[in-house]
Amino acid sequence: MTTRIAVVRRLPNDLLARIREHGEVIDNQADAQFDAESMARHIGDADALLASVFDRVDAALLARCPKLKVVANIGVGYNNIDVAACSARGIQVTNTPGMMDDATADVAFGLMLAAARRLVEADSYVKAGKWTTAAAPLFGLDVHHRKLGIVGLGRIGKVLVKRGHGFDMDISYYNRRRIDPAEEQALGIRYADLATLIKESDFLVLQVPYGPETHHLIGAAELAQMKKTAVLVNTARGGVVDDAALAAALKAGTIAAAGLDVVENEPQTHPDLLTLPNVVIAPHIGSATLATRYDMAALAVSNLIAAVSGQRPPNLVNPA
Ligand code: NAP
Repeated sequence: MTTRIAVVRRLPNDLLARIREHGEVIDNQADAQFDAESMARHIGDADALLASVFDRVDAALLARCPKLKVVANIGVGYNNIDVAACSARGIQVTNTPGMMDDATADVAFGLMLAAARRLVEADSYVKAGKWTTAAAPLFGLDVHHRKLGIVGLGRIGKVLVKRGHGFDMDISYYNRRRIDPAEEQALGIRYADLATLIKESDFLVLQVPYGPETHHLIGAAELAQMKKTAVLVNTARGGVVDDAALAAALKAGTIAAAGLDVVENEPQTHPDLLTLPNVVIAPHIGSATLATRYDMAALAVSNLIAAVSGQRPPNLVNPA
């Protein structure tokens, strides 16, 4: 029997050709935007699915695609997939760790700089023809030599550490489990509990996976503990921050500014955030360079091919 492989996103032709060597492909080279209904129809009776973090693979979808045996996600985070429901159906789930560490750390750092130095406001100021005197009233905050706090020191967090040292920053982190002290020393960072990190950081960057444990990890109570001059950056996932509470804090001056690559209920953004000058928002572009997205897709394709060939995919997230 021919293996049927559904691809939800447009793929580079060479990657699509690789998949075609392993079955009949239902592609989406036209880049149609699917809702739940059209996505279920697109996948139909496929045996394998190549999806991205922007595609919701929930229990309702799985129930309509009974033949699925593998969901290969293009992305390291997989909160778009109901992994428990997949496991219950014997469906393998894979992700693409390590492919977007530099690209995402770049966006995190870019948001820190943009929010602190008001670069987006400055750009609008000039383009609106307001630069009529030599000295524009656009004072910002220093990034260099300030305290950087990283919540979620994993692969991306460790790359961010290198960026921070380039700016002579004093770097601390919080994870549920402290990393080896020898590695802390090698990285030039200190461990802090979450409450201390929230209180002491000038720049608090969130890089944790999203799940029940990290839902609204930063809400009104945490924002109230931050420095008035602090900048919050969320390059993790929407929902790690309570966006309504963040908008209120930015409006009230509880914190100075924020940089967001992700928001709750993407692509909808909390309306109050859209009106505030002290927040810079990007539309979830952490990994969005052509080279990085290619590498992510290539790894996802390798995972998918391994699974449909009866081998253990290299990046299986539900081995049990
Ligand atoms: P990773 O290597 O697994 O690192 C995640 C880190 O978070 C780990 O060190 C983990 O340490 C820590 N962590 C997990 N749960 C935590 C909790 N409840 N409280 C505090 N720390 C916690 O993952 P990564 O590759 O760096 O990626 C991290 C996340 O970034 C992804 O899951 C994804 O959602 C997001 N991401 C976003 C973009 C974007 O485009 N904006 C791109 C890539 C990734 P412990 O287990 O010891 O707590």
